[in-house]
Amino acid sequence: MKDMDKNHFESLNKCSRCGGCQAHCPIFYETGREPFVARGKIELLENLQSGKLTWNDKLADIFSMCLLCGACAENCPNGVPADKLVMMARKDLVANNGLPIIKKNVFQHLLRYNGRLNLAGKILYLYQKTGLQKLLRISRVLNLMPNDLAKIERLLPEVASGSFRKIVPFRSTVDNPRLKVAYFTGCVTNLINHNVGYSILKILKACGVEVIIPKQGCCGVPAFASGDFTTGKFLGEQNIKEFAREDVDYIIFDCASCLSTWLDYPELLESEEALKFSDKLMDVNRFLVEILDIKIECPEIGKKVTYHDPCHLKRTENGKKAPRELLSRLSPAYEYVEMGLADRCCGSAGSFNISHYRLSQKVANRKVKSIKESGAEIVTSACPSCMMQLSHALKNEKSDVVVNHLVELVAGCLQ
Ligand code: SF4
Ligand code: SF4
Repeated sequence: MKDMDKNHFESLNKCSRCGGCQAHCPIFYETGREPFVARGKIELLENLQSGKLTWNDKLADIFSMCLLCGACAENCPNGVPADKLVMMARKDLVANNGLPIIKKNVFQHLLRYNGRLNLAGKILYLYQKTGLQKLLRISRVLNLMPNDLAKIERLLPEVASGSFRKIVPFRSTVDNPRLKVAYFTGCVTNLINHNVGYSILKILKACGVEVIIPKQGCCGVPAFASGDFTTGKFLGEQNIKEFAREDVDYIIFDCASCLSTWLDYPELLESEEALKFSDKLMDVNRFLVEILDIKIECPEIGKKVTYHDPCHLKRTENGKKAPRELLSRLSPAYEYVEMGLADRCCGSAGSFNISHYRLSQKVANRKVKSIKESGAEIVTSACPSCMMQLSHALKNEKSDVVVNHLVELVAGCLQ
C-alpha cells in the first residue's frame, strides 16, 4: 500500500480487535461476514501494508462492500477512522489496478464536464418523456439483462428538462440584504429535483438574503469514494477556484454529501486555499436555524413527519440537532415524530445502490420498516441521494409515504 500516509498507517495500529464495530455496521448486520466489518478490513489492510497480501479481485470486492457511512468510526472506542481507511485502500487499489471500465468512463469522461453531464440529463429526460422508458418497462426487456438492471433502472426518479443552474439567475438580489450566500446546488438538485433549489431561493428571498450560484461542478464525492482521487481533486480544485471569485458570508448546501466533501477538501486536495472556506460551509437547515433564526408560520396541514439523518450530515457540527430544530418550528402544521434507526445509513452510499443493488435494498428495507412504524406520512431528509434511495425502497414496499427535502416543507409554508 504505497499510498497510505503516516497518519492513516498509525491509525491502523489503534484497533484493539474488540469487535465493537460489528454492532454498528449495516453491512455486517445484513451479511454477518467478518471481512465486511471494520475489524476485518483493518486486518486485511495490515496484511496489504506489510506485503503479505497483494490486491486481487476478491480483496477488491471486499473493499467495495462498505457504505463509508462512518458508523464504525463514530462508535469505535479507540477512534479508528475505518471509513477513511477504506477510502485510502480504494485509492491504493486504483493506483495499482486502475478503475473498472464503467467507472473510468463515467468519472473521467462525464463527471468532469458540466456540458456532458447536462447532456446526459437531457437524454434521460427524453428517455422518460418520449415514452421509451414506459415501453421498456412494459416490454420487460430489461428483465432479461443481468445484474438487476430492471430494478436499478427504477432507482431513477423523474429527471428535470434541463440544468437548474442554467435556468435561475446567477444572482438573486433583495433590497438591503442582511447576508450574502453562495449556493452549491449539487448534481441531483441541478439535474433532477429542481424543487429543492427553488425552495431554497424562495426561503432565502423571504429572509432577506442575497444568493449567488457560482459556476460549479460535481463536488467529487463519487470519484473520491471509488478511489479516483485524480478526478475528485480535479473537481474540487475547480470548485474552490470558482467560489473564491465572490466574497460571501456563507456557502450553503442542500446535500449532506457535498457539504461533507467540501469540509474534507483541505485534506483531500491537500490545499491551503480550501482551508479558507472551512468556517463558511453550512448545511442549509443549520443556516436557517442558527444564522437566520427563522420563524415559520404555517397553515394547518396536520401531517405526521419524520426525519432520516444522512450519514454525511449527522457528524458535522449540529448536524443532527439543526434539522430537528427546523422541523419543530413547523409545528403545529406538521407533527414531528422521531423514527427508530433514524441515524442508520439508508444504503444509498453514492453508487453502492447500483453496484450492490440487493444488499443496498436490504439495508434500505430496515429504514422503511422504521418509517412505517413511526406512523409518519412524510419522511424528510437533507440529502438528495438518500431521498432517491428512500423513495425507491418505499415504492418497492408499496408504501404511500412521501419523501421530501426539509426545505420543501419550509418553502411550502411561506405565502
Ligand atoms: S475498529 Fe474500533 S470498534 Fe472495531 S475492532 Fe477495531 S477498535 Fe474495536
Ligand atoms: S463505514 Fe459503515 S459500512 Fe463501512 S465498515 Fe464502517 S460501519 Fe460498515
